[in-house]
Amino acid sequence: MSDLSPFPRYDTSYARLPASFYSHVHPYGASSPKLLKLNSALAEVLGFDLQGLTDDDAAQIFAGNQLADHSKPLAMAYAGHQFGGFNPGLGDGRALLLGEVIGTDSRRYDIQLKGSGQTPYSRQGDGRAALGPVLREYVMSEAMAALGIPTTRALAAVLTGDPVLREGVLPGAIVTRVASSHLRVGTFELAAFRGNKDDLAALVTYALDRHFPDRVEDGPPALQLLNGVVGRQAALIAQWMGVGFIHGVMNTDNCTISGETIDYGPCAFMDSYNPAQVYSSIDHQGRYAFSNQAPIAHWNMAVLAQALLPLIDDEEASAIKLAQDAVDRFPTAFQAAYLGVMRGKLGLTDSHEADRQLVRDLLQLMADSEADFTNTFRALSNAENDANMFLALIGEDGKAWFESWTARLGRETASAEERQEIIRAASPAIIPRNHRVEAMIAAGVDGDFAPFHDMVQALAKPYEDPPSSGEGEALTQPPKPDEVVHA
Ligand code: AMP
Ligand code: MG
Ligand code: MG
Repeated sequence: MSDLSPFPRYDTSYARLPASFYSHVHPYGASSPKLLKLNSALAEVLGFDLQGLTDDDAAQIFAGNQLADHSKPLAMAYAGHQFGGFNPGLGDGRALLLGEVIGTDSRRYDIQLKGSGQTPYSRQGDGRAALGPVLREYVMSEAMAALGIPTTRALAAVLTGDPVLREGVLPGAIVTRVASSHLRVGTFELAAFRGNKDDLAALVTYALDRHFPDRVEDGPPALQLLNGVVGRQAALIAQWMGVGFIHGVMNTDNCTISGETIDYGPCAFMDSYNPAQVYSSIDHQGRYAFSNQAPIAHWNMAVLAQALLPLIDDEEASAIKLAQDAVDRFPTAFQAAYLGVMRGKLGLTDSHEADRQLVRDLLQLMADSEADFTNTFRALSNAENDANMFLALIGEDGKAWFESWTARLGRETASAEERQEIIRAASPAIIPRNHRVEAMIAAGVDGDFAPFHDMVQALAKPYEDPPSSGEGEALTQPPKPDEVVHA
């Protein structure tokens, strides 16, 4: 590597929190790192100097072999509720924070390696990541960003050259994740669990300054934070619901304070619409099913409220009342955000009392006919010109719905052309379809990364009609019965 440092200047504010929130760690390093992908546009925003940086240099950096001189990596401590049960001892078990930077957009970002080795929080885990989950996280998080939905980003993916033991021996890899922070509900649960009120208060101040700098200061800071997070999570889940995204593991340690989507494990975008759809093989109860995501986020907000209680009011009854009121705002905030998202998908710019029912009726028809979620809404954008495609997707019973929609459009002020643009901007033409993601991963494990690169490229412009051949076109096609991926 050249003498000039390619690293941005890290300014890791998290390390200024009380020491109980993290441990300094060192990455394992990789025996023969190979760069799979570097997100150059994002790297530039973060302040990496890419001039003269070779792929091998980048591989060394994003495998953790080469650190900035001033970098003091750390693993974050957190707790969390996993499938409803409290676990006080989670934390970054296979990830570390390289540092925070202020990007060229003046925003603060965390840069984290995931799959970089064990930490004090690894428990039984090996601290490593297999190639498949790394490719999945890269594709899914970048697709989410391109959809305009708050999310962590993928900065790089590297092969380590070191095997990882899972159900068999798999290639090891590291994904570099970028987030506006890695603060989670579980971070607050940990502070509350330890019972140190000063540490909890320090965390609240930190989170408020970092994520809600423009807040109107009124009332106890912990309550301001709770209200803020309730709003962000309500907006986020509404956006997921608008693109058919199923997170899969909405544990409180995977629920961010920033309102970004995080932790792309057994997640997927739905093909045919089924509100009860689950993708996680360990989610037997359907706790994290598609239609349960808002109730679960609401539940997660109650967990956050519980953790913040000691700071809301010295008098317990009063603290509970204030916290409950804040948590109770979630369903209303979610419904408002959700209706906003769905109005866009129906091309409605004005609001009328019956809109909610119009949305419900369409979704019911889609469930009955197992219509493809993405293609149905996309077809609606052209349905005023030609309804055949749309009706073919939702079936004969859809005619009556189509007529009520058309009647409702009569009360709109927007033109048909404007409406088409509104629907297209709310309903992507392509999503990372699960069967294609699985095929892409299988190819990668066999050493063929062309599908990975093609997929990332195609998903960068999800609201444009893709070319009529290639990966973009393939992503418009629902799986054939034998291609359907089961949990
Ligand atoms: P997740 O299911 O990805 O949200 O992870 C839950 C917890 O398990 C977190 O504390 C992770 O850091 C930890 N974890 C997951 N995989 C590993 C691994 N391979 N090695 C060590 N810790 C892990
Ligand atoms: Mg997690
Ligand atoms: Mg995970």
